[in-house]
Amino acid sequence: MTLPGAPFLARRGAGLELDGHSLDELARRFGTPLFVYSRRAMRAAFDAYEQALRGRPHLVCYAVKANSNLAVLQTFARAGGGFDIVSAGELARVLAAGGEPARVVFSGVGKTRAEMRQALQAGVRCFNVESEGELAPLNEVALELGVRAPVSLRVNPDVDARTHPYISTGLKANKFGIAHDKALVAYRLAAALPGLQVVGIDCHIGSQITQVAPYLDALDRLLDLVEAVEAAGIAIRHVDVGGGLGITYTDEAPPAASDLVARILERLDARGHGQREVLFEPGRSLVGNAGVLLTEVLYLKAGQDDSAEGDDSARSFCVVDAAMNDLVRPAMYQAFMAIEPCVRRPGAGTTWDVVGPVCESGDWLGRDRRLAVQPGDMLAVLSAGAYGMTMASNYNSRPRAAEVMVDGDRVHLIRKREEVSTLFADERLT
Ligand SMILES: *Cc1c(COP(=O)(O)O)cnc(C)c1O
Repeated sequence: MTLPGAPFLARRGAGLELDGHSLDELARRFGTPLFVYSRRAMRAAFDAYEQALRGRPHLVCYAVKANSNLAVLQTFARAGGGFDIVSAGELARVLAAGGEPARVVFSGVGKTRAEMRQALQAGVRCFNVESEGELAPLNEVALELGVRAPVSLRVNPDVDARTHPYISTGLKANKFGIAHDKALVAYRLAAALPGLQVVGIDCHIGSQITQVAPYLDALDRLLDLVEAVEAAGIAIRHVDVGGGLGITYTDEAPPAASDLVARILERLDARGHGQREVLFEPGRSLVGNAGVLLTEVLYLKAGQDDSAEGDDSARSFCVVDAAMNDLVRPAMYQAFMAIEPCVRRPGAGTTWDVVGPVCESGDWLGRDRRLAVQPGDMLAVLSAGAYGMTMASNYNSRPRAAEVMVDGDRVHLIRKREEVSTLFADERLT
């Protein structure tokens, strides 16, 4: 079986390595729970988009919410990438990491006036406007500052991305974007407001998408609109097809980024839009398989042999020191994430539910996993580079994990483990 994350993640003998670094050693050196990322894996994923877009006007905007550690953002800033942000907090991170505001697109259904002001002052490339109601406030804030806000309307193309309902965003039933049949009216309104400058159109139809067809359907719907809007005398510079490309967690077989890009460019050409600037907003596909979460096995609770069939007490639990507060995807989306021992033991092992210490029955990282383990062993939860640390919480007053970036020979601690005292530093006794 090839590991998700290969070739950067690989077995050498019994040991598991990320870009040549022993994960068992990193876990023991920095403690657990610990996120470890490979900068070279992130860079390779980014370069796949870039190479497929060579010779075309384009911008690859990394979706910051997938993993917002400054060193991760720095990786893409250095590579010449842009950023897709959804809050002023993410904007501040991008700027702190050396990202260029002129390469930032600002998405999100609930931008506040304060956030609009900060983004305009920073000089972002454009606002991805998600409702007609956003236009008037943005216009006002821009006029107050004496600038014009560049806008792209996020259109809801009403296509089914065929992914998990929580991460499907391009259907009419979702809260995102402006309905396709209302978009032309919204463009007319935007073009008439003196504080706004129409620059583009965008969509984002969902996440963990494993097929090309929904992208092409959405693109066709966008291009229909581009033609209608331009026929109405409003110029549109760029087409932003969003993010959402899936990764392999277990047996999914998403298209390679190069294939997805090639098919999109082909469709743009076929419809006579070949010279239009094209934007992508990938998150998961740039970082997901570049990271792992390391955790130590604390206790093994074998199931009772004498329990009735179908009785849950028959389950065997492998209790680890990472939990849903560190990695919520399994609990929140019933997501499958592969779990591998950092050092393989001989033997077939036992079937375990790998669970964390949080007081919730939903606190599991993996169910029915065959593992040969002993307390004190280190396990790696694979494909944890995206929507891991950024969704972490302090539930159960658990400090958030540390993060490490390996980069060739070097190992950098890019976020130190949170201290318990900082969890309540802003609280006051009365
Ligand atoms: C989350 C998000 C993305 C990135 O999605 P991935 O599935 O991580 O690629 C891109 N654009 C917008 C507007 C988003 O909300």
